[in-house]
Amino acid sequence: MNNSDQFFIKCALKEAKKAAALGEVPVGAVLVINQKIIAQAHNQVESAQDSSAHAELLVIQKANQILNRWRLTDATLYCTLEPCMMCAGAMILARVKRLVYAAPDLRHGVDGSFISVFEKKHPIHQIEITRGVCAEEAGQLMKDFFKKVRGEKRCQPTCSMN
Ligand SMILES: [Zn+2]
Repeated sequence: MNNSDQFFIKCALKEAKKAAALGEVPVGAVLVINQKIIAQAHNQVESAQDSSAHAELLVIQKANQILNRWRLTDATLYCTLEPCMMCAGAMILARVKRLVYAAPDLRHGVDGSFISVFEKKHPIHQIEITRGVCAEEAGQLMKDFFKKVRGEKRCQPTCSMN
């Protein structure tokens, strides 16, 4: 971890908070090249009704468009949550240089929480990984979100009549 890791993870956390405000699971990501944010995104699964609209995938797509290139060999992807299978695959395909994430995702995380895809040496591309930067803040954001969602569900009239 270096000093700028915390700074950029906090930027990703801002994106995650935007998602939470929109009723989305609070995950945010920023893509950085040479200490500069190229693209930022947050989870949009609910608003887009698209199961693949994860922050990491969206930030890679945005960066590809902005830079007009698919290879991101000079990029660091900062994300508030351990990536899932799809996003880890997208990162490998885009040749992302480095991944920095905050909290583990016990259900979908593929950096050891659910399965380990980065452990096995990839024949053409190995991503450098830094874990746990601002993990507590990112984890708390998730906990608060799901607590709120569960609370709201309990208040629905259909439930109270049962
Ligand atoms: Zn994902």
